[in-house]
Amino acid sequence: MLKPFRGFRGGYKFINYDGPAAPVIVEDDIPSRVMIPLRQGFGQDVKPLVKKGDVVAAGQIIARDDHTVSSPVHSSVNGIVEDIKRMNYFKRVVAMVVICSQDPSKEIARIPGYSAEWGKLSNEEIEKLIYLSGVSSLDREGIPTRFKSSIIPPEDVKHLIIHGVGSEPYNISLELLLEGRRLLNFFEGVKILKRITPKSHVHLAVNGHSRRIIEQLVKLSSNMEWLDIYPLEPKYPQGYDEMLVPTILNQKFPYGYSAANIGVVILNIQAVLGVYEAVTEGKPFIERIVALCGPSMKEHVHVKARVGTALGDILSKRLDTSKPSRVVLNSLLTGVNLNDLTLPIDRTFSQIVAIPENKDREFLSFTRPGAGRDSYTRTFLAKFLPGAKKRPDTNQHGEERPCVSCAFCEDVCPVRIIPHLLSKYVKRGIIDETLMNYDIFNCIECGLCSFVCPVKIPLLAHLKEGHEKLMQQGCDRTQCILPYFDLKGIEEYRGVTKL
Ligand code: SF4
Ligand code: SF4
Repeated sequence: MLKPFRGFRGGYKFINYDGPAAPVIVEDDIPSRVMIPLRQGFGQDVKPLVKKGDVVAAGQIIARDDHTVSSPVHSSVNGIVEDIKRMNYFKRVVAMVVICSQDPSKEIARIPGYSAEWGKLSNEEIEKLIYLSGVSSLDREGIPTRFKSSIIPPEDVKHLIIHGVGSEPYNISLELLLEGRRLLNFFEGVKILKRITPKSHVHLAVNGHSRRIIEQLVKLSSNMEWLDIYPLEPKYPQGYDEMLVPTILNQKFPYGYSAANIGVVILNIQAVLGVYEAVTEGKPFIERIVALCGPSMKEHVHVKARVGTALGDILSKRLDTSKPSRVVLNSLLTGVNLNDLTLPIDRTFSQIVAIPENKDREFLSFTRPGAGRDSYTRTFLAKFLPGAKKRPDTNQHGEERPCVSCAFCEDVCPVRIIPHLLSKYVKRGIIDETLMNYDIFNCIECGLCSFVCPVKIPLLAHLKEGHEKLMQQGCDRTQCILPYFDLKGIEEYRGVTKL
């Protein structure tokens, strides 16, 4: 059933950003060498099953651990294991299997037991295919199967939310992901997930402005009483689990835990397509579609690349190196800087954004309007100049100055806390229960307060500092919410996130 258009208080609409990825998929050649991290997405590190010198096939499982919450890891190329080493990978030390490719063909070893007629498979066979494909490690809750791929079993899933809202400044194209045959495959993937989580109600959350897609979804789901479609306002950070749960289910989120702890599993569209391919084609999840966006990117396309491909291989011809730029992974507001382009992509990469580096201090830059700039004070420009592209750089609002108490940060905060007040407490060294009374632990670290602040106060950094100092004093954020929820899988979740 199609539900009415929904949104939430606060948030921010990022409209007309320069350099979105065109709805085109470019498939790169097989890289000559890949580095496969043995921890990708949801779950714990897995143990390698191969050693140096072993010959491996693309799609072959090279690491797994059936006793912990995790998902198997595959080789993404046909080749020879060159090394297994531990290295820094986005603030973690992770074991990597380095494989030298020996075969430029795109052949992939299939997982045994798959069937195009998936309705004839048992639930256990379906869950095994999902687990063995590695797709179960996607998103924050994983995909529950009886093979320890999530912190709750499939029968505990009450709600399955599948989202393609796209509220970031740059997003992977929904139209591209659900184009033609892929839309039908997506629906089959949804049916497979419903089959293995029989007690769940399925909610499809999509960008409310994607009218054509919504019409097609409504048509295809006409006889599915277990499925609802929610057109959502594409307002950041609507795609966060903490916002999807209250917006769709009208239910509180257990801050500090995951949606799975209250029986909700949230997946993106690529994960559902991956489920379809695993069950009906036996395809392991060894390729990822990554959107290349931003003004410093020369080619704005979606690239289909093998997991383990070095960032440099993907970006070498596509990044404008004539001027300094900053390359950011997955989110312009909260993503990690990609300083080392020798690092590989893993299953969780969805977009790479490159913006010009601008270190020049511009006095009172926020007072100088211009269609190419974005700030909370100028959102009206998007309405009056819909064609004007905003051009983000690393110096959005000039230099840091004292707070002018404009309350923009409070206005946009999606969890209704008061960032400027909390920031002042932290900067004055007041680290006590006052911070908890003002719900500092509810912050979902979306970074919106720092973005809209016209005087460029790093509010999110201050809030994170407050979190850390409270934790050092023995205040555990999870203790604040435990009395209000009947949470499942708490111990497993602690094991996965190392709380
Ligand atoms: S306080 Fe936290 S949740 Fe609120 S806008 Fe800032 S980063 Fe986002
Ligand atoms: S947005 Fe910046 S200047 Fe405005 S109240 Fe918040 S901290 Fe102060």
